[in-house]
Amino acid sequence: MFAGEDHGDLTARIVPQFVGSILDKLVDLTLAVAAFLDRENGSSASTLFVTKKQSESDVQVILDEGHRLFGENRVQEAMGKWPRLREQYGDTALALIGPLQRNKIRDAVKLFDRIESLDRLSLATALAQYRDDHGIALPEMYIQVNVGREAQKSGVDPEALLQFHRSCEMELGLEISGLMAIPPAAEDPRSYFRTLANHAMELGVPNISMGMSGDFETAITCGSTQVRLGTVIFGELKK
Ligand SMILES: *Cc1c(COP(=O)(O)O)cnc(C)c1O
Repeated sequence: MFAGEDHGDLTARIVPQFVGSILDKLVDLTLAVAAFLDRENGSSASTLFVTKKQSESDVQVILDEGHRLFGENRVQEAMGKWPRLREQYGDTALALIGPLQRNKIRDAVKLFDRIESLDRLSLATALAQYRDDHGIALPEMYIQVNVGREAQKSGVDPEALLQFHRSCEMELGLEISGLMAIPPAAEDPRSYFRTLANHAMELGVPNISMGMSGDFETAITCGSTQVRLGTVIFGELKK
């Protein structure tokens, strides 16, 4: 993950320091991201911490430090941890960054402030239907784009994005405020990040969720507005 590709110099330098507590890591990482943003002069990306597979108490350490933006990739798992934490830390924002099944829509729209994994028309239609049936406002919506056209990954193919975006906004009345993508693991992510940023510009979509522990600096350079970090803060995830 942290192979020393040229884009990963900052990550390579800061990751080995991460042997201390989560709190130490939080401080180091926050400083590192801030320093990087400064150098990039004018860019500003927010940091979403991915708390999948982490215990409530580990997440709480970060909440107690004042961080308030988090992501989970499974609705079920998030339901086991976040309702309590949200009650305690009222101003927290929580994003769903993994696949959403239609039978989980009810839980998802209640728990999450944002769904970054809108990836197919049947889901978009079901969300719009749920909104109409219940007279509620939906969470913020990002379309997930399958930038590498990988069979095993969710997301709308780049060729289909324009039409999908149009269907969501014009036909279903969903307001799309961002794009999210996970580039192919084994490749240099730079061209994928650039492509996603271009799509966002063409569509007039303001938010670009891209960049993870191994490539967040590159993502920021390419215009990311939000990086999603798991491993650099929590260490290698327990399998
Ligand atoms: C787990 C996960 C991340 C965090 O990845 P790290 O490499 O651990 O930082 C980011 N985005 C999504 C969609 C994830 O599932």
